Amino acid sequence: MPDTDQYRLPRTVTPVRYDIALSPDLARASFTGEVRIEVEIHEPVDEIVLNALELELAEADLDGTAAAGITLDESTERATISFAEPVQPGHRHLRIAFTGTLNDKLRGFYRSTFTDDDGNERVIATTQFESTDARRAFPCWDEPDLKAVFGVTLVVEDGLLAVSNSPVVEERDLGDGRREVRFGDTMKMSTYLVAFVVGPLEATEPIDVDGVPLRVICTPGKTHMADFALEIGAHSLRYFAKYFGIRYPGEKLDFVGLPDFAMGAMENLGAVTFRENLLVIDPERATRNELENVADVVAHEVAHMWFGDLVTMKWWNGIWLNEAFATFMELLCVDDFRPEWDRWVTFGLTRGAAMVIDAMESTRPVEFEVHAPEEAEGMFDVLTYQKGGGVLRMLEQYLGSEPFRSGIVRYIDKHQYGNTETTDLWDAIEAATGEPARSTMDTWIFQGGYPIVSVEPGGEAGEIRLSQRRFRYVESSDDSLWQVPILWRAGIGGEVASGRVLLSEREAMVTLPGKPDWVVVNAGGWGVYRVRYAPELLRALTTDISHLDKLERFNLVSDTWASVLAGTTAPAEYVELVRLFRNESDPAVWGAIASSFSILRRTIPVAERPAFERFVRDLLRPQVERLGWEPKAGESELDAELRGSLLVALGWHGADAEVVAKAQQVHEQYLADPTSVEPNVAEAVATLVARHGGESEFQAYLDRWRNPTTPQEMVRYLYRLADFPNEGLARRVLDLAITEVRSQNGPFVIFFVLMSSEHNALAWDFIEEHWDDIHARFTEPLIPRMLEAVAWVTDADLAARIRSFLTAHPLRSGQQTIEQAMERMDVHVAFARREAAQLASAFDA
Ligand SMILES: [Zn+2]
Repeated sequence: MPDTDQYRLPRTVTPVRYDIALSPDLARASFTGEVRIEVEIHEPVDEIVLNALELELAEADLDGTAAAGITLDESTERATISFAEPVQPGHRHLRIAFTGTLNDKLRGFYRSTFTDDDGNERVIATTQFESTDARRAFPCWDEPDLKAVFGVTLVVEDGLLAVSNSPVVEERDLGDGRREVRFGDTMKMSTYLVAFVVGPLEATEPIDVDGVPLRVICTPGKTHMADFALEIGAHSLRYFAKYFGIRYPGEKLDFVGLPDFAMGAMENLGAVTFRENLLVIDPERATRNELENVADVVAHEVAHMWFGDLVTMKWWNGIWLNEAFATFMELLCVDDFRPEWDRWVTFGLTRGAAMVIDAMESTRPVEFEVHAPEEAEGMFDVLTYQKGGGVLRMLEQYLGSEPFRSGIVRYIDKHQYGNTETTDLWDAIEAATGEPARSTMDTWIFQGGYPIVSVEPGGEAGEIRLSQRRFRYVESSDDSLWQVPILWRAGIGGEVASGRVLLSEREAMVTLPGKPDWVVVNAGGWGVYRVRYAPELLRALTTDISHLDKLERFNLVSDTWASVLAGTTAPAEYVELVRLFRNESDPAVWGAIASSFSILRRTIPVAERPAFERFVRDLLRPQVERLGWEPKAGESELDAELRGSLLVALGWHGADAEVVAKAQQVHEQYLADPTSVEPNVAEAVATLVARHGGESEFQAYLDRWRNPTTPQEMVRYLYRLADFPNEGLARRVLDLAITEVRSQNGPFVIFFVLMSSEHNALAWDFIEEHWDDIHARFTEPLIPRMLEAVAWVTDADLAARIRSFLTAHPLRSGQQTIEQAMERMDVHVAFARREAAQLASAFDA
C-alpha cells in the first residue's frame, strides 16, 4: 500500500454538498453543530471515512438509518462511521451531530478577543482552515480536490454580527436571545476556503463594485479607517475580472479584520480574513510602506478568488503555484493601482531576500513532492511567494505580457470549478504562445537555487560571452543548469539596441549589432539570477550609471554585495561602487544599500566604527539635504518614504548626533499631536528615539502600544520596544512577548530583539530558557519566523551555541527555514572572521 493512502481519504464515497449548522457559545468557548452531507456512494461500503479532529461526534445516520458505530482516530485525523448493513451505491444523505471547542491556537474554529471602550473583554469566534483545519470545525472530506457546495447556518446571540462565504438569505428570531442566520449556497469549492465569523463586529455600508457588494468588517469604532481597503478592494475586483476575462466568482465580498490571526490574511471565498493592521488604515497617518502592505494583501487575496478559489490545486504540492501566482497578480494590480509607487522596483527588495536564502545549501526547489499535508507548511515561505512570483514575472517579461495573459485566461477558463497540477498552467501558456514555457520553468521550479551569469567580451567586436553556474556564498561544485531567459540592452555608437536570448547551455556567444560602449545583461532587472561583469564591462557600465534603470541599479548593488559576502569581491570595491549612488533617489536601491550597512556595522570592530559612520554620513548627506525634514509641496510618495528611511540610516548607521537630537524633538511633537508630523518621518523618529532611548521613552512606547490610535501605531510601538539599548529594558520586552503581547505578535517581538547586535545573546538565552513556554503560547508556523533572526548573528561563539541547541531541538515543521537561517548566520560569521580586522580601511576615502 503506498504510504500516501494515509493522507488521502478513500474515494468510495465523495461529498456533493454540505449543510452545516453551528451554534457557537462565545462565553463558554464551545460550539455544537450538525452537518448534513449529500454524498455520492460509488461502490458498496460498510463504512464511511472522513476527516474530523478535536470534535466529539455524538450521532450519525445515513438517510435516517443510524450508524452502528462511530470511531475517531486522532493520529490520522479521521472519523469512521460504520453501518450494520452494506450501503449500496447512489445518492445519499449523511447526518452527523457533533460538539467542539473554540480553541486559542488560531486554527480551526477559534477565539479571538479584544477589550472594548468600556474595558470589557469581548470574544469573536472565527475560522482559519488552510491547510487542513476545516476538520476541526465540522466533519468533512478535507482535501482540496473534493470540492462541494456549502450551505452554512449559524445560530448567534442577538447583537452579534455573523459572516460567512455567501450573503445572508434568511434570518429568524429564535425568541431566546438568539437568531438563526442562514447563508446562501457557495459555488463548488474546497473545504479549506469555508469561513464563518461571529462577534461584536461592525460593518461598513456595502459599496457596489459592478454588482458585487463590498464591505469591511472590524471591531467597533474603526470603520472610519476602512476607505483605503475598500478603494484597493474595488480596484482589484475590477482589475482581475478584466485580466482573467471572468466575473468575480462569489456573490459578495467581505474583508474581515481580526485582532488575532496567525497569517497575514486568508482567501476564504467572499469572506477574506485579515490581521487588523493589514486592512484597517488611516492614509493620513500611515507610511507609504504601510499603505503598500495593505494594498498588497488586499490585491493578493482578491486575486485568489480566481486563482486558488475558482481554480484550485489538486494537492498541497500546488500551494507554491497558488501563492506565487497570487503574489505576481498582486504586484501587477498594485502597480496599476498606484503607478507612482513603482511596485515592481520595491519588489526587488523582497525578491532579493528570497535570493539570499535560495543561495544556501539548504534551499529547496519551489515545488516538491508532498505526502503529508504538513509537509507543505514549509511552502509558505519567501521561496514560494517571492522567488515563485519572481520567476513568473521573469517568464511574463520574456514572453511579453499580453501573450502571457492569454495563456492565463485559457488556464482559468478551462479549469474553473476544478483542480489542477502546475503543468496545466505551463501547457496553457505554451498553447497560447508557442514558447517552451514548461521546459524553461521546470528548471526554475524543480531545482533549488539560481545561476549567476558571467558576462565577458567575446572574441570578435560586438560579441559577448554569457556563461552560467549556480550562485553560492560558499565554494562548492554544482553542475545545475537553468534555461535562463535573458534580456539585454547595449549602447552602440550612441544608439541603444536590445534583444533576448534563452541561455540553456553552460555558455553561449551573443552577437550584438556592433561593438558596445556598454551592455546591460538582465535588462529591466526581471531575471531571478545574478550577473557578474568582466572588469572592463563593469567599468564601462559604471562610468555613467544613468544608463541603468531603477531595478537594474538595485540589482547591481544587490549582486555586488552578494559577491562580497561570497568572498569574490573585496569590501573596498563594493564601497567604491556604493559611492556612485550619492545622487540616488530610489528608496528600493537605498534599501539594498542599507541592508548591507547593517551587516557592515555589526562586523566592524566598535573602536573602528567611526570610519564607517563618517562614510555613511558623507554618502547620505546630499539626499538628506535635498529632502529636508519637512514634506515639500507636490513631492512624490517615494520621496516622502525615502526621507524617512534615510533619516534612520543617517541617525543609526551614520551615528549623526544632530539627526538623533532632532528626532527626539520631533517625536515629542508627534506624541503631543500625531497629525503634526508627516507619517514617514513619524515612523523614522520612533525608530531613532527607541535606539537611543531610556526608561521614560520606554514608558511612552508602552503607553502608545497599549493605547494606539491606529492599528499601525500599535504594531510600530510594540515592535520598536525591541530596539532600546538598555539590557534591563530588553529583558522586560522579552517577558512581555510571552505574557501580555498577543500571541500573533509575540514571535515578531522576540525576532527583533534577537536580530539586534546589542541583545542577540540575551534573546538567545531567553529562547533556550523559555523554549517550552514559547511552544505552548505561539502558533507553530510563527516559531520558525521568530528564529529566522539568528541569520544576523556574526559572533562565532553565539552561533555555535545556537546551532547546537536548534539541532538538538528540531521543530515539527519549518525546520528547513531554521537550517537556512543558520546557514546565513554561518555566511555572516565567515564574513566577519575574514574581513573584520581590515574592514575599516575599506571606508577610507
Ligand atoms: Zn495567498
